Amino acid sequence: MATVRDIGETRKRSDDMILVGYFLSRCTDFSDGKVSRPPTSLGVDSWNGAYDLFFDVLAEGRSLQQFRHTLKGTRDIFDTLFDNGRKGWSEGQKRGSQLSARDRAVHEHWIRNSDEDLFRKVREFLVEQGRHRNPDWTRDELIIALDYHLNHGNFDPRPQSEEIGELAQRIAKVGAALGLIERGLLLRTPDAIAMKLRNFSSFDPQYTDNGRKGLTNGNRLEVELWEQFSGRPDEVARVANGILELIGDSDAEILAFDEPEFEASEGRIMTRVHVSRERNSTLVKKKKYVALRQHGCLACEVCGFDFLQTYGERGREFIECHHTLPISSLGEHGKTNLKDLALVCSNCHRMIHARRPWWSIDDAKAALIGANGSRAQS
Ligand SMILES: [Zn+2]
Ligand SMILES: [Zn+2]
Repeated sequence: MATVRDIGETRKRSDDMILVGYFLSRCTDFSDGKVSRPPTSLGVDSWNGAYDLFFDVLAEGRSLQQFRHTLKGTRDIFDTLFDNGRKGWSEGQKRGSQLSARDRAVHEHWIRNSDEDLFRKVREFLVEQGRHRNPDWTRDELIIALDYHLNHGNFDPRPQSEEIGELAQRIAKVGAALGLIERGLLLRTPDAIAMKLRNFSSFDPQYTDNGRKGLTNGNRLEVELWEQFSGRPDEVARVANGILELIGDSDAEILAFDEPEFEASEGRIMTRVHVSRERNSTLVKKKKYVALRQHGCLACEVCGFDFLQTYGERGREFIECHHTLPISSLGEHGKTNLKDLALVCSNCHRMIHARRPWWSIDDAKAALIGANGSRAQS
């Protein structure tokens, strides 16, 4: 009969906990032949960091300390099976500890499967176990990945490589800024990132022309970003750097801002910063003041609409501001200047943001003239 082993507490370990312990032992990174490190697929440096990734899902009421201790103990049990450089297990041997029937069953089942398959299973515990799915990749995260593919990438990204590890950290920063995940955790594992990069390869003629085929299950957003940016590697680098720049500079409040209705091609972070700049009340007030002094009224710079004229008193000093700098350059401009704001009526402002890519003020004017022209002709 299986007994509950003494690993510092008497509570029975769940099957999931045993599986994760097995994974941690089997996939220990001992590649330098000196130090045993957590599996590279977890993207963390320390063992505590690795245990903590599973805390939310597997703790079952244990304190963090207890949990780390139990998971470490579970990992160590399996060290007798693997040559992972840890000496701890020989101590266990002396004490006569053996695999329990449950431990053994896990090993016997999984030894027939690859490390990748094992990790795929374990990964389910990294995000709240099916309670909610991993959120879809955002445009922002994909832009960071696409920048890597177009500007630094190779066609066969290895999840274990340092480069992909660093890319994972950058993408995690974006996820944290968007409030998708806590700072310091990885929402997208190096494996998942390598998979995305292979998706991009599957669109890339440089790759497919060689007769090799990448994955072809890219989703709509990936295809859209590919079409938009693949011919412009400099632009995607500018946007990717801008996003990371803005994360460093902006208040968490701005980045965690309500979802703007219309997300720019350049992603959520730039969209949020854009919206926060055109709603900066001090600047907006100044802008209106200057326009009133200059023109004696507040008219839409696109269509000429004047709220006061149409709605009377209620419309006095009412108009919206649009931030006119190309959104992709937001990372390069710290302060908003008055000349960067345009006065627009609510309709024109919505039209500017209604589709990707966003219109400039001139685009909006041209469209208005074009539409009026064709109406006049018909
Ligand atoms: Zn207008
Ligand atoms: Zn705007």
